[in-house]
Amino acid sequence: MSFNNLGLSEALLKAISKKGYTTPSPIQQKAIPPVLEGKDVLASAQTGTGKTAGFTLPLLHILSENPKEKYRPIRALILTPTRELAAQVYANVKEYSEFLNIRSAVIFGGVNQKPQAATLRQGIDVLVATPGRLLDLQSQGLLSLKRVEIFVLDEADRMLDMGFLRDIEKVIKSMPEKRQNLMFSATFSKDIKKLAHGILNHPVQVEATPENTTVDAISQKVYRVAKGLKTGLIIKLISEGNWKQVLVFTRTKHGANKLCEKMSKSGITAAAIHGNKSQGARTKALAGFKSSRVRVLVATDIAARGLDIPLLPHVVNFELPNIPEDYVHRIGRTGRAGASGEALSLVSADETSFLRVIEKLIEMKLPVEIMEGFEPDPNASTAPIKQGQGRQNRNLRSSNTSRNSNRNSNSNSRRPKRNNDRRN
Ligand code: AMP
Repeated sequence: MSFNNLGLSEALLKAISKKGYTTPSPIQQKAIPPVLEGKDVLASAQTGTGKTAGFTLPLLHILSENPKEKYRPIRALILTPTRELAAQVYANVKEYSEFLNIRSAVIFGGVNQKPQAATLRQGIDVLVATPGRLLDLQSQGLLSLKRVEIFVLDEADRMLDMGFLRDIEKVIKSMPEKRQNLMFSATFSKDIKKLAHGILNHPVQVEATPENTTVDAISQKVYRVAKGLKTGLIIKLISEGNWKQVLVFTRTKHGANKLCEKMSKSGITAAAIHGNKSQGARTKALAGFKSSRVRVLVATDIAARGLDIPLLPHVVNFELPNIPEDYVHRIGRTGRAGASGEALSLVSADETSFLRVIEKLIEMKLPVEIMEGFEPDPNASTAPIKQGQGRQNRNLRSSNTSRNSNRNSNSNSRRPKRNNDRRN
């Protein structure tokens, strides 16, 4: 299968070849044709599968085949849960539309709205946005969604995790009823299916990897280790393995910072990326990691979701997530685009129950190793780690705009329940 057989325009094929892609990924092969036919699509795909091009390429094709008047109303809206993902999707839209007469923009919170408003005033065809800032600008009359023809909801599961359901509903109400809808989600809970039912019209369903299974190319391993020895073990693994680029997951923001400090003290360049970091700090950390100036990126689940880090050889779970689906998302950061990868989990006694639930979800037992000198503590309790409550919940988007923070502080009642124990 080649990109030439998918029915995309010459201008798009030129941009694809400039990116160096030769073969469409499975999700692209499956999603592009129905989108080009104007159908609604429900796609099961996580980051790393090439899903962004899967919706961006046909979307750009449709818009450029039917050019509208000079005044450019927003004709396509791509909604993403996080700023990082919005920025990445926008970068893709820009690259793929290089040879088309299409204007695009990205808007997200945490930065000055003035430049965003100025760009919108000039008229744009494709808008990539996070929900909070989109609704902000809309309520100020700075943008209208009344002419949207194609709506993309990216990472719908994470949208719900982050409490964006009401915002999504508001956005939908402000668009014309007759439009094409594309929805992407890595997992399919009951809530996601309900949301899809409300948005999509007779959707074509496409799947990149079977739901909740881990990619075959990833080799997974568990190190049983005493809690207090985890830092020493990870430093040993990174130094002795001479790992150049490692993504490490912690359960808490504080844990991410602490680990980063200890790594730096051991001479391993590390940066943390989590919800308490400013947009600038996150962008800088990610750029440093991508350019290999930073060897280790320590992240919490929400911060890492959707990050485009190609060809990542190592992912380490410094702590296991208490939500088993997050394990699948985390290790999906490695073994991308056919490259092999390794996912290691450092598991202490109090994480035993998390490990069991993960193994049940992925339907396999993970191989266990013990490193000499870093043995598990035989006397440690296997009682699960206590979950954080309320306060952490508000921290979830604490670096967002004040409007968002205000909304968050009184909106706990509408959050999905499982958010109560997230500590990102
Ligand atoms: P995504 O799942 O959209 O975040 O894409 C994951 C990575 O795969 C990104 O770095 C893309 O640039 C890359 N990618 C997307 N489509 C292809 C393709 N057909 N061939 C090779 N790489 C691709």
